[in-house]
Amino acid sequence: MDFELTEEQQDIKNAAKEFAEGEFDLEYARKCDEEHIYPRELVRKAGKEGFIAMQFPEEYGGQGVGILEVCLVGEEFARVDSTLGLPSLASNFGSEQIWLFGTDEQKEKYLSKIASGEYISCGMYTEPDAGSDAASYKTSAEKDGDDYVINGTKTFITNAQYADVGAVAVITDKEAKKFSNMSVVWIDDLQEHEGIKISDLGRKMGINSTSTCEIAFDNCRVPQSNLVGEEGMGFLQMMQFFDTTRVPVGAMSVGMAQGAFDKALAYAKERKVFGMPVAKFEVTMFKFAEMATKIEAARNLVYKAAWKIDNETPDAALSSMAKWYAAKVGVDVCDEAIQIHGGYGYMADYDVERWYRNAKIQEIYEGTKEIEKYTIAREIIGRI
Ligand SMILES: Cc1cc2nc3c(=O)[nH]c(=O)nc-3n(C[C@H](O)[C@H](O)[C@H](O)COP(=O)(O)OP(=O)(O)OC[C@H]3O[C@@H](n4cnc5c(N)ncnc54)[C@H](O)[C@@H]3O)c2cc1C
Repeated sequence: MDFELTEEQQDIKNAAKEFAEGEFDLEYARKCDEEHIYPRELVRKAGKEGFIAMQFPEEYGGQGVGILEVCLVGEEFARVDSTLGLPSLASNFGSEQIWLFGTDEQKEKYLSKIASGEYISCGMYTEPDAGSDAASYKTSAEKDGDDYVINGTKTFITNAQYADVGAVAVITDKEAKKFSNMSVVWIDDLQEHEGIKISDLGRKMGINSTSTCEIAFDNCRVPQSNLVGEEGMGFLQMMQFFDTTRVPVGAMSVGMAQGAFDKALAYAKERKVFGMPVAKFEVTMFKFAEMATKIEAARNLVYKAAWKIDNETPDAALSSMAKWYAAKVGVDVCDEAIQIHGGYGYMADYDVERWYRNAKIQEIYEGTKEIEKYTIAREIIGRI
């Protein structure tokens, strides 16, 4: 057993740190948050430097590294600033479907463009009436000639306002049983596609540097050759897809927690109350001890879950533990960081309130914390 990162992993972590510290401008982060701006140029730069879709094979524009390396970058980006880090980390969302299940032709056509930051992609799964209950999606794709004709509505779709392409989960066989009636279809030219209407849902509690959209499909025609993977296997593909994306989401929470911790520590050493630095009160010392322990535990869970995926022994319970626990630590630590800042923590200028707002979403998307606990329980107890 070896808890040290390899030299290559350490180099990747250092490169991500250097990029984020050099490129993430705090004033711009605040502006993106306040004015709901998507930092498109930054995403392009991150792609150029090789930080997007690093897990894709080199022949398709990736770095051919594992999920652990993706986690290291996610952690560093989120530690420096999640408002500016997340748009790059999420810019390839949905395209993992092609990486995992696509044909060589599909991989050739799309993956390099996505990894380079030229294309933004999105994953269109959630519907207004079905989020956690993914088996109840209603959006349908009926065959007509060589096309699928898609009808239905997807909601809360990250990136859709800017995305060039994306994967959509659709019911392709209404007669088939639940879990084997769904497929994944790839959409080109998302912004100009006939039969697609994209509406940004506006500003939200946090991660305002990303767009979150509703997408209405109204007789939208897509060639049947855009099927990703196998017809009827969409639900399974979606679950496998989330197994690889869930752990890096946990890594981002570890980064957010570490960043908030660092800010709180710097403040507590500086701020004097009753004649001494806040950091010297035993109560505060214990807070730091608890936060540091939680962050370390979350980090180790994330790294181990990622390592299991990379070593072809993926562990669904461990991945869910990593995502659930890290997201909880992210929220808890950001909350405590605000508390340690006192009244200043509540003010926008000190940034920790923004971090708290950004951290919260991690407990909701890519599986709510309740659904993660179901997965953990199911794996360890079995279906009751
Ligand atoms: C900012 C943002 C970005 C997002 N990005 C995307 C995206 O890019 N693509 C995409 O497809 N989706 C995206 N989502 C959607 C997100 O994944 C869903 O919101 C999430 O899965 C929960 O679904 P829901 O909102 O329908 O809640 P519901 O499923 O209606 O759940 C409501 C509550 O009930 C709980 N619950 C549900 N089932 C159970 C149960 N069996 N037992 C106990 N409690 C339960 C949930 O945990 C939750 O607390 C995004 C959401 C947001 C807010």
